[in-house]
Amino acid sequence: MKIAVCVSHVPDTATKIVIGSDNKSIDPSGVTYIVNPYDEFAIEEALKTKEKLGGETVVISVGKDANKETLRKALAMGIDNAVLLKDDNDRDSIGIAKALAEEIKNQAAELVFFGKQSVDYDNSIIGQLTAELLGYNCVSVVVDLKIDGNKITAEREIEGGREVVETSLPAIITAQKGLNEPRYASLKGIMASKKKVIEEKAAAASDKVVEVLRMKKPPMKQPGRILGTDKTAVAELVRLLKEEAKVI
Ligand SMILES: Cc1cc2nc3c(=O)[nH]c(=O)nc-3n(C[C@H](O)[C@H](O)[C@H](O)COP(=O)(O)OP(=O)(O)OC[C@H]3O[C@@H](n4cnc5c(N)ncnc54)[C@H](O)[C@@H]3O)c2cc1C
Repeated sequence: MKIAVCVSHVPDTATKIVIGSDNKSIDPSGVTYIVNPYDEFAIEEALKTKEKLGGETVVISVGKDANKETLRKALAMGIDNAVLLKDDNDRDSIGIAKALAEEIKNQAAELVFFGKQSVDYDNSIIGQLTAELLGYNCVSVVVDLKIDGNKITAEREIEGGREVVETSLPAIITAQKGLNEPRYASLKGIMASKKKVIEEKAAAASDKVVEVLRMKKPPMKQPGRILGTDKTAVAELVRLLKEEAKVI
């Protein structure tokens, strides 16, 4: 079976984000990039599925040359092949999904893994959009996965529990934390990944349908208030929680 995994190259979550002078984008200077953390679960599940069922794995990313760093990391973990769908301009989510759908079709991949969400823009939508464009089944926020022939049984994380669902191939699965424990790239894997060729193609054209108008910092937090340092403060605290905060 051909298994694909789609990965996004995102700012490190520890990076201090600064809004650019255009007020519409993030200032890229000083930003370090990593593989989107949810995509590491997607890569691991693609590798585990290949180890169980055989086949071939391919990692795909839409973006700039810098995305090769993220593609190389997936190769070092053990993915067989990598494709960069090149576009030097920022795309909206549907633009990324259209480029991915075309390449997944080219690759004839029947099973495709995504992260549940990109930790920068947080749209949580590209896996589902790609499934719709391809006419594939889709199960999101997956924490357990079993594949038996054509049948897929997945557990999804829902509020306060899990939901068990069944579907069939071809399918897109979006990975949630807990699906697996992503492996570290071995030294042998890292060395081998340096020799692998990343195939480069122009990403399929797409017009933007969602435009960012501006970015804003969240409002400053109100400073805390100390009501007192002994039990005499309790009555005032209760009054404020009732009358001001309206939480009790
Ligand atoms: C300052 C800054 C600079 C950035 N620079 C780059 C850059 O140079 N290159 C780059 O690729 N991204 C870059 N990004 C990230 C990129 O813009 C977003 O990840 C992308 O727009 C998807 O966001 P989303 O919320 O729509 O994705 P979601 O819908 O939340 O993503 C869900 C899943 O879709 C898949 N996915 C998302 N984006 C891609 C993609 N591009 N290719 C393949 N699969 C994908 C992943 O599996 C991801 O887990 C940058 C982000 C910021 C904030």
